[in-house]
Amino acid sequence: MTGNRTFTMIKPDAVENGHIGAIMEKITAAGFKIVAMKYTQLSVRDAQAFYAVHSERPFFGELVTFMTRGPIVAAILEKSNAVEDFRALIGATNPEEAAEGTIRKLYATSIGENAVHGSDSDENAAIEGAFHFAGREVY
Ligand code: ATP
Ligand code: MG
Repeated sequence: MTGNRTFTMIKPDAVENGHIGAIMEKITAAGFKIVAMKYTQLSVRDAQAFYAVHSERPFFGELVTFMTRGPIVAAILEKSNAVEDFRALIGATNPEEAAEGTIRKLYATSIGENAVHGSDSDENAAIEGAFHFAGREVY
């Protein structure tokens, strides 16, 4: 199944703004199958570990505060070419640069509060999925 799975989170801003249903509709309409999903909240430790690659960046503290301030939806998605196709569906990190019709163009409010996460490689998709889900939670 290499290359066929990615990991996503609907971030706290999109949950607060009532966009869970609309975002899940866009994801499933684009042909992604949900193989794992949960509603949960990250602890500070969770967020620091999940975004450890950004720990030296100036926005790291802001990112951790944001990602822990409310619940998220975490999911593993399956589709051919999942990582690349999902990054195309969500659009650029900065919503001002995101293409029309992308999830971030529609629902993100800023570069920091950008509605959704999408894995950036097959390797990270596997690591991130395993961070959030036990094997028996993946269908
Ligand atoms: P994600 O990993 O969440 O899918 P991404 O891959 O598009 O987003 P990254 O460069 O991995 O972008 O940054 C991770 C997250 O850190 C971004 O989604 C955003 O929430 C936050 N972030 C990135 N750059 C900035 C910035 N310049 N200012 C504030 N927050 C930022
Ligand atoms: Mg990233």
